[in-house]
Amino acid sequence: MKYIDEYRNRDLIDHLAAQIRKISHKPVKLMEVCGTHTVTIFRNGIRDLLPDNITLISGPGCPVCVTAIDGINRAITLSQKKGVSITTFGDLLRVPGSKTSLLKQRGEGADIRVVYSAYDALCLAQQNRTRQVVFLGVGFETTAPTVAAVIHRAMEDRIGNFTVLSMHKILPPALRALVESPDLRIDGFICPGHVTTIIGTEPYEAITHNFHVPCVVAGFEPVDVLQAIALLVHQIERGEAKVEIQYRRAVSPRGNPRARAMMDDVFEPCDSVWRGFGPLPRSGLKIATSYSDFDAERRYDIPPVDEGVPLGCLCGDILRGLKRPSDCSLFRKLCTPENPVGACMVSSEGTCGAYYKYST
Ligand code: SF4
Repeated sequence: MKYIDEYRNRDLIDHLAAQIRKISHKPVKLMEVCGTHTVTIFRNGIRDLLPDNITLISGPGCPVCVTAIDGINRAITLSQKKGVSITTFGDLLRVPGSKTSLLKQRGEGADIRVVYSAYDALCLAQQNRTRQVVFLGVGFETTAPTVAAVIHRAMEDRIGNFTVLSMHKILPPALRALVESPDLRIDGFICPGHVTTIIGTEPYEAITHNFHVPCVVAGFEPVDVLQAIALLVHQIERGEAKVEIQYRRAVSPRGNPRARAMMDDVFEPCDSVWRGFGPLPRSGLKIATSYSDFDAERRYDIPPVDEGVPLGCLCGDILRGLKRPSDCSLFRKLCTPENPVGACMVSSEGTCGAYYKYST
Protein backbone atom coordinates (compact mmCIF):
# COMPACT_ATOMS: atom_id res chain seq x y z
CA MET A 1 0.00 0.00 0.00
CA LYS A 2 1.47 3.35 -1.02
CA TYR A 3 2.72 5.54 1.84
CA ILE A 4 2.69 2.51 4.14
CA ASP A 5 4.76 -0.34 2.66
CA GLU A 6 7.77 1.76 1.72
CA TYR A 7 7.91 3.08 5.29
CA ARG A 8 8.02 -0.47 6.65
CA ASN A 9 10.61 -1.72 4.17
CA ARG A 10 13.06 -4.07 5.91
CA ASP A 11 16.06 -3.19 3.70
CA LEU A 12 15.51 0.51 4.31
CA ILE A 13 15.17 -0.09 8.06
CA ASP A 14 18.46 -2.01 8.12
CA HIS A 15 20.17 0.63 5.99
CA LEU A 16 19.05 3.45 8.30
CA ALA A 17 20.08 1.52 11.42
CA ALA A 18 23.53 0.94 9.90
CA GLN A 19 23.79 4.62 8.99
CA ILE A 20 22.92 5.66 12.56
CA ARG A 21 25.49 3.24 14.01
CA LYS A 22 28.10 4.71 11.67
CA ILE A 23 27.50 8.40 12.41
CA SER A 24 26.64 8.22 16.13
CA HIS A 25 29.53 8.59 18.60
CA LYS A 26 28.30 10.80 21.46
CA PRO A 27 26.08 9.43 24.25
CA VAL A 28 22.64 10.90 23.57
CA LYS A 29 19.18 10.83 25.11
CA LEU A 30 16.38 11.35 22.63
CA MET A 31 12.78 11.77 23.73
CA GLU A 32 9.93 10.47 21.63
CA VAL A 33 7.28 12.90 22.75
CA CYS A 34 4.31 11.01 21.40
CA GLY A 35 2.82 7.75 22.65
CA THR A 36 2.24 6.56 19.08
CA HIS A 37 6.01 6.81 18.50
CA THR A 38 6.58 4.78 21.67
CA VAL A 39 4.39 2.04 20.25
CA THR A 40 6.17 2.13 16.85
CA ILE A 41 9.54 1.88 18.61
CA PHE A 42 8.46 -1.17 20.59
CA ARG A 43 6.51 -2.90 17.87
CA ASN A 44 9.45 -2.73 15.47
CA GLY A 45 12.26 -3.45 17.92
CA ILE A 46 13.88 -0.09 17.15
CA ARG A 47 15.81 0.06 20.43
CA ASP A 48 17.60 -3.17 19.50
CA LEU A 49 18.72 -1.66 16.20
CA LEU A 50 20.39 1.34 17.81
CA PRO A 51 23.91 1.55 19.24
CA ASP A 52 24.27 1.53 23.04
CA ASN A 53 25.13 5.22 23.17
CA ILE A 54 21.60 6.20 22.07
CA THR A 55 18.90 6.11 24.74
CA LEU A 56 15.26 6.63 23.83
CA ILE A 57 13.00 7.98 26.55
CA SER A 58 9.24 8.33 26.37
CA GLY A 59 7.55 11.67 26.89
CA PRO A 60 4.22 13.30 27.75
CA GLY A 61 2.44 12.93 24.40
CA CYS A 62 -0.47 10.77 25.55
CA PRO A 63 -3.42 13.13 26.19
CA VAL A 64 -5.27 10.78 28.52
CA CYS A 65 -2.11 10.27 30.58
CA VAL A 66 -1.36 13.96 31.11
CA THR A 67 -4.91 14.82 32.13
CA ALA A 68 -4.56 15.65 35.82
CA ILE A 69 -6.42 13.58 38.37
CA ASP A 70 -8.43 16.70 39.25
CA GLY A 71 -9.86 16.65 35.72
CA ILE A 72 -10.94 13.04 36.12
CA ASN A 73 -12.45 13.82 39.53
CA ARG A 74 -14.41 16.75 38.12
CA ALA A 75 -15.72 14.63 35.24
CA ILE A 76 -16.88 12.07 37.82
CA THR A 77 -18.60 14.82 39.85
CA LEU A 78 -20.39 15.98 36.70
CA SER A 79 -21.54 12.44 35.92
CA GLN A 80 -23.30 12.37 39.31
CA LYS A 81 -25.49 15.37 38.48
CA LYS A 82 -29.15 14.71 37.76
CA GLY A 83 -30.15 14.93 34.10
CA VAL A 84 -26.54 14.98 32.82
CA SER A 85 -25.22 12.55 30.22
CA ILE A 86 -21.43 12.37 29.91
CA THR A 87 -19.88 11.60 26.52
CA THR A 88 -16.22 10.70 26.23
CA PHE A 89 -13.57 8.84 24.29
CA GLY A 90 -13.22 5.28 25.59
CA ASP A 91 -9.79 5.54 27.22
CA LEU A 92 -10.84 8.21 29.68
CA LEU A 93 -13.48 5.90 31.08
CA ARG A 94 -10.89 3.67 32.76
CA VAL A 95 -8.53 6.32 34.14
CA PRO A 96 -8.70 6.10 37.94
CA GLY A 97 -9.77 9.22 39.80
CA SER A 98 -8.99 9.68 43.47
CA LYS A 99 -11.79 7.38 44.65
CA THR A 100 -13.47 5.89 41.61
CA SER A 101 -13.50 6.00 37.80
CA LEU A 102 -16.04 6.94 35.16
CA LEU A 103 -16.34 3.24 34.35
CA LYS A 104 -17.30 2.40 37.93
CA GLN A 105 -19.70 5.33 37.98
CA ARG A 106 -21.36 3.95 34.88
CA GLY A 107 -21.70 0.59 36.63
CA GLU A 108 -23.50 2.42 39.42
CA GLY A 109 -26.01 3.94 37.04
CA ALA A 110 -24.49 7.18 35.76
CA ASP A 111 -25.30 7.95 32.11
CA ILE A 112 -21.81 7.84 30.57
CA ARG A 113 -21.46 7.02 26.89
CA VAL A 114 -18.43 6.37 24.69
CA VAL A 115 -18.38 8.39 21.47
CA TYR A 116 -15.91 8.44 18.59
CA SER A 117 -16.01 12.19 18.07
CA ALA A 118 -17.31 15.40 19.60
CA TYR A 119 -19.76 15.53 16.70
CA ASP A 120 -21.33 12.24 17.87
CA ALA A 121 -21.85 13.91 21.25
CA LEU A 122 -23.54 16.88 19.60
CA CYS A 123 -25.85 14.54 17.65
CA LEU A 124 -26.74 12.79 20.91
CA ALA A 125 -27.68 16.17 22.40
CA GLN A 126 -29.87 16.94 19.39
CA GLN A 127 -31.65 13.61 19.75
CA ASN A 128 -32.10 13.86 23.53
CA ARG A 129 -33.33 17.36 24.26
CA THR A 130 -34.40 16.49 27.81
CA ARG A 131 -30.82 15.53 28.79
CA GLN A 132 -27.85 17.84 29.29
CA VAL A 133 -25.03 16.30 27.22
CA VAL A 134 -21.47 17.09 28.31
CA PHE A 135 -18.50 16.13 26.14
CA LEU A 136 -15.19 15.61 27.93
CA GLY A 137 -12.68 17.50 25.77
CA VAL A 138 -9.29 15.84 26.11
CA GLY A 139 -6.44 16.02 23.63
CA PHE A 140 -3.75 18.19 22.09
CA GLU A 141 -3.81 20.56 19.13
CA THR A 142 -4.77 17.67 16.86
CA THR A 143 -8.13 17.17 18.58
CA ALA A 144 -8.94 20.68 19.75
CA PRO A 145 -9.84 22.11 16.29
CA THR A 146 -12.43 19.38 15.74
CA VAL A 147 -13.99 20.09 19.14
CA ALA A 148 -13.91 23.81 18.34
CA ALA A 149 -15.76 23.15 15.06
CA VAL A 150 -18.45 21.20 16.93
CA ILE A 151 -18.91 23.99 19.51
CA HIS A 152 -19.18 26.43 16.60
CA ARG A 153 -21.83 24.22 15.03
CA ALA A 154 -23.70 23.92 18.33
CA MET A 155 -23.89 27.70 18.46
CA GLU A 156 -25.08 27.97 14.85
CA ASP A 157 -27.76 25.34 15.44
CA ARG A 158 -28.63 26.76 18.88
CA ILE A 159 -28.24 23.47 20.70
CA GLY A 160 -28.91 24.49 24.29
CA ASN A 161 -28.31 21.15 25.97
CA PHE A 162 -24.71 20.62 24.82
CA THR A 163 -21.55 21.69 26.68
CA VAL A 164 -17.86 20.75 26.68
CA LEU A 165 -15.62 20.31 29.72
CA SER A 166 -12.39 21.47 28.12
CA MET A 167 -9.25 19.79 29.42
CA HIS A 168 -7.33 20.29 26.17
CA LYS A 169 -3.59 20.81 26.31
CA ILE A 170 -1.03 22.62 24.17
CA LEU A 171 2.16 20.64 23.67
CA PRO A 172 5.02 23.21 23.33
CA PRO A 173 4.83 24.48 26.95
CA ALA A 174 5.43 20.89 28.12
CA LEU A 175 8.51 20.61 25.89
CA ARG A 176 9.77 23.84 27.37
CA ALA A 177 9.19 22.52 30.90
CA LEU A 178 11.17 19.40 29.99
CA VAL A 179 14.21 21.27 28.67
CA GLU A 180 14.12 23.62 31.66
CA SER A 181 14.00 20.70 34.10
CA PRO A 182 17.19 20.50 36.18
CA ASP A 183 16.68 16.72 36.67
CA LEU A 184 16.70 15.77 33.03
CA ARG A 185 19.02 16.13 30.05
CA ILE A 186 17.39 15.74 26.66
CA ASP A 187 19.63 15.96 23.58
CA GLY A 188 16.86 15.90 20.98
CA PHE A 189 13.12 15.62 20.50
CA ILE A 190 11.31 13.31 18.11
CA CYS A 191 8.32 15.61 17.68
CA PRO A 192 4.78 14.40 17.01
CA GLY A 193 3.73 14.43 13.37
CA HIS A 194 0.01 14.80 13.95
CA VAL A 195 0.22 17.77 16.35
CA THR A 196 2.64 19.47 13.96
CA THR A 197 0.22 19.13 11.04
CA ILE A 198 -1.80 21.74 12.96
CA ILE A 199 0.75 23.93 14.78
CA GLY A 200 3.53 23.87 12.15
CA THR A 201 7.18 24.02 13.12
CA GLU A 202 7.41 27.56 14.48
CA PRO A 203 6.65 26.63 18.13
CA TYR A 204 9.72 24.35 18.17
CA GLU A 205 12.05 27.21 17.18
CA ALA A 206 12.07 28.42 20.79
CA ILE A 207 13.40 25.02 21.88
CA THR A 208 16.15 24.91 19.27
CA HIS A 209 17.16 28.57 19.62
CA ASN A 210 16.91 29.07 23.37
CA PHE A 211 17.96 25.65 24.60
CA HIS A 212 20.02 24.29 21.71
CA VAL A 213 17.99 21.08 21.57
CA PRO A 214 17.29 19.80 18.03
CA CYS A 215 13.72 18.88 17.06
CA VAL A 216 12.73 16.56 14.21
CA VAL A 217 9.07 16.07 13.32
CA ALA A 218 8.49 12.40 12.56
CA GLY A 219 5.85 10.15 11.06
CA PHE A 220 4.70 6.93 12.67
CA GLU A 221 6.18 4.07 10.65
CA PRO A 222 9.53 2.47 11.54
CA VAL A 223 11.37 4.11 8.63
CA ASP A 224 9.98 7.50 9.75
CA VAL A 225 11.24 7.06 13.29
CA LEU A 226 14.69 5.80 12.20
CA GLN A 227 15.06 8.64 9.71
CA ALA A 228 14.16 11.10 12.46
CA ILE A 229 16.75 9.55 14.78
CA ALA A 230 19.36 9.73 11.99
CA LEU A 231 18.58 13.42 11.43
CA LEU A 232 18.81 14.15 15.17
CA VAL A 233 22.08 12.27 15.55
CA HIS A 234 23.51 14.05 12.54
CA GLN A 235 22.67 17.43 14.10
CA ILE A 236 23.99 16.47 17.53
CA GLU A 237 27.29 15.14 16.15
CA ARG A 238 27.77 18.41 14.25
CA GLY A 239 26.80 20.57 17.25
CA GLU A 240 23.69 21.90 15.49
CA ALA A 241 20.18 22.50 16.85
CA LYS A 242 17.47 23.17 14.30
CA VAL A 243 13.96 22.10 13.42
CA GLU A 244 13.64 19.55 10.64
CA ILE A 245 10.64 17.77 9.18
CA GLN A 246 11.04 14.10 8.42
CA TYR A 247 7.26 13.67 7.97
CA ARG A 248 7.08 15.78 4.83
CA ARG A 249 4.24 13.82 3.30
CA ALA A 250 1.88 15.21 5.97
CA VAL A 251 3.49 18.21 7.66
CA SER A 252 4.23 21.66 6.29
CA PRO A 253 6.19 24.30 8.24
CA ARG A 254 3.14 26.55 8.51
CA GLY A 255 0.85 23.78 9.76
CA ASN A 256 -2.87 24.19 9.20
CA PRO A 257 -3.85 27.87 9.60
CA ARG A 258 -7.54 27.15 9.04
CA ALA A 259 -7.67 24.62 11.86
CA ARG A 260 -5.74 27.02 14.11
CA ALA A 261 -8.16 29.85 13.26
CA MET A 262 -11.09 27.66 14.31
CA MET A 263 -9.27 26.73 17.52
CA ASP A 264 -8.37 30.38 18.25
CA ASP A 265 -11.96 31.48 17.67
CA VAL A 266 -13.52 29.06 20.15
CA PHE A 267 -10.74 28.56 22.71
CA GLU A 268 -8.31 30.79 24.51
CA PRO A 269 -5.06 29.77 26.24
CA CYS A 270 -5.15 29.22 29.99
CA ASP A 271 -2.85 27.90 32.68
CA SER A 272 -3.37 24.18 33.03
CA VAL A 273 -2.30 21.42 35.40
CA TRP A 274 -0.55 18.43 33.78
CA ARG A 275 -0.12 15.11 35.48
CA GLY A 276 3.52 14.93 36.52
CA PHE A 277 4.29 18.55 35.62
CA GLY A 278 1.87 20.50 37.80
CA PRO A 279 0.59 23.84 36.55
CA LEU A 280 2.14 25.09 33.30
CA PRO A 281 1.43 28.66 32.15
CA ARG A 282 -0.72 28.97 29.01
CA SER A 283 -0.58 25.24 28.36
CA GLY A 284 -4.31 24.56 28.23
CA LEU A 285 -7.35 25.72 26.27
CA LYS A 286 -10.50 27.09 27.87
CA ILE A 287 -13.67 28.00 26.01
CA ALA A 288 -13.75 31.68 25.03
CA THR A 289 -16.33 33.96 26.64
CA SER A 290 -18.22 34.36 23.35
CA TYR A 291 -18.96 30.61 23.45
CA SER A 292 -19.59 30.44 27.21
CA ASP A 293 -23.06 28.90 26.72
CA PHE A 294 -21.22 25.73 25.70
CA ASP A 295 -18.75 25.72 28.56
CA ALA A 296 -19.49 23.05 31.18
CA GLU A 297 -17.21 24.88 33.66
CA ARG A 298 -19.53 27.89 33.53
CA ARG A 299 -22.81 26.01 33.42
CA TYR A 300 -22.12 23.69 36.35
CA ASP A 301 -20.63 24.16 39.75
CA ILE A 302 -17.72 21.67 39.69
CA PRO A 303 -15.38 22.24 42.63
CA PRO A 304 -11.78 21.03 42.25
CA VAL A 305 -11.17 17.64 43.91
CA ASP A 306 -7.42 17.08 43.87
CA GLU A 307 -6.78 14.32 46.37
CA GLY A 308 -3.46 13.12 45.07
CA VAL A 309 -2.30 10.29 42.84
CA PRO A 310 -2.55 6.58 43.73
CA LEU A 311 0.09 5.50 46.24
CA GLY A 312 3.19 4.10 44.54
CA CYS A 313 2.24 5.22 41.02
CA LEU A 314 5.17 6.85 39.18
CA CYS A 315 3.16 8.18 36.22
CA GLY A 316 4.34 11.73 36.90
CA ASP A 317 8.03 10.81 36.71
CA ILE A 318 7.41 8.58 33.69
CA LEU A 319 5.66 11.38 31.80
CA ARG A 320 8.67 13.63 32.42
CA GLY A 321 11.08 10.97 31.20
CA LEU A 322 12.69 10.53 34.62
CA LYS A 323 11.62 6.95 35.24
CA ARG A 324 10.62 3.88 33.24
CA PRO A 325 7.60 1.70 33.96
CA SER A 326 9.91 -1.07 35.18
CA ASP A 327 11.00 1.31 37.99
CA CYS A 328 7.44 1.21 39.38
CA SER A 329 6.89 -1.50 41.98
CA LEU A 330 3.25 -1.87 40.86
CA PHE A 331 4.09 -2.50 37.18
CA ARG A 332 2.79 -5.90 35.99
CA LYS A 333 1.82 -6.75 39.58
CA LEU A 334 -0.98 -4.58 40.94
CA CYS A 335 -1.09 -2.44 37.79
CA THR A 336 -2.09 -4.06 34.49
CA PRO A 337 -4.19 -2.93 31.51
CA GLU A 338 -7.13 -4.88 32.98
CA ASN A 339 -6.70 -3.18 36.34
CA PRO A 340 -4.84 0.11 35.78
CA VAL A 341 -3.67 1.93 38.89
CA GLY A 342 -2.39 4.97 36.98
CA ALA A 343 -3.30 6.75 33.77
CA CYS A 344 -0.17 5.63 31.87
CA MET A 345 -1.41 2.02 31.94
CA VAL A 346 -4.84 2.81 30.49
CA SER A 347 -4.30 3.92 26.94
CA SER A 348 -2.47 1.88 24.30
CA GLU A 349 -0.41 5.08 23.80
CA GLY A 350 0.45 5.28 27.48
CA THR A 351 4.06 4.46 28.28
CA CYS A 352 3.19 1.82 30.88
CA GLY A 353 0.59 0.27 28.58
CA ALA A 354 3.11 0.10 25.72
CA TYR A 355 5.84 -1.38 27.96
CA TYR A 356 3.35 -3.91 29.32
CA LYS A 357 2.32 -5.03 25.86
CA TYR A 358 5.67 -5.05 24.08
CA SER A 359 8.52 -5.38 26.59
CA THR A 360 9.48 -8.60 28.34
FE1 SF4 B 1 1.36 4.19 37.49
FE2 SF4 B 1 0.82 1.66 36.85
FE3 SF4 B 1 2.63 2.95 35.46
FE4 SF4 B 1 3.13 2.23 37.98
S1 SF4 B 1 2.82 0.85 36.25
S2 SF4 B 1 3.57 4.20 37.02
S3 SF4 B 1 1.09 2.47 38.90
S4 SF4 B 1 0.47 3.44 35.58
